[in-house]
Amino acid sequence: MIVTIDGPAGTGKSTVARTLADRLGFEFLNTGAMYRTVAYACLKKQLPLDDEQAVADETLRLKITFANNRVLLGDQDVTDAIRQQEVTQSASIVAAHPAVRSRLVDLQRKIAHGINLVTEGRDQGTIVFPNADCKFFLTASPEERARRRLRELEEKGEQVSLEELLEQQSLRDYRDETRACSPLQPAPNAIIIDTTDMTIAHVTGRLEQIVAAVSANSSR
Ligand code: C5P
Repeated sequence: MIVTIDGPAGTGKSTVARTLADRLGFEFLNTGAMYRTVAYACLKKQLPLDDEQAVADETLRLKITFANNRVLLGDQDVTDAIRQQEVTQSASIVAAHPAVRSRLVDLQRKIAHGINLVTEGRDQGTIVFPNADCKFFLTASPEERARRRLRELEEKGEQVSLEELLEQQSLRDYRDETRACSPLQPAPNAIIIDTTDMTIAHVTGRLEQIVAAVSANSSR
């Protein structure tokens, strides 16, 4: 069974997807981490991020794997490094290149082969797994999403203003929603959930109920 969770940053997607996967006994895939890892590797090599060929060639060379909730680039643990602000912004630039997406989409489908999976990102229900059993699209107001991100960064001891975050967030949303290849949008048959006034536990509970109902229905 494949469950997809798409939506913009700050909607609680990652935490909800991870918790849901744990509860269902499914594997969990964070596809944003893949785009982030590509961006991280390109920044390290000082490759021009807007050079599709250079970034795509680099993507082909990379070995991105997941183990125990950590993200590995080769044998380097890049889990924390790929959360840096510069990598966050750069990820949405490399993610606009069709050649990069095609390589990562292949990898995502390979990972999903033959397993039960909760996968989250921007295009999981639309492009990568159009036949997924259950598709969700999470939203929240821009202000709430930025506030959540601010709290997360403050907990890590990073200093940024809400205004700065709102600005970065709207630039990233704009890039993700307007790119020609696999723009961020809900799949026609996705269940859309506005998480603005919901806790993570509440959202996860709602998704779990829906997945249980779908699964009971399909085994009838
Ligand atoms: O989800 P996360 O914020 O980690 O994603 C980082 C960036 O990776 C997004 O802003 C988006 O540009 C890109 N991404 C994507 N498709 C996905 C997952 C992430 O384009 N499936």
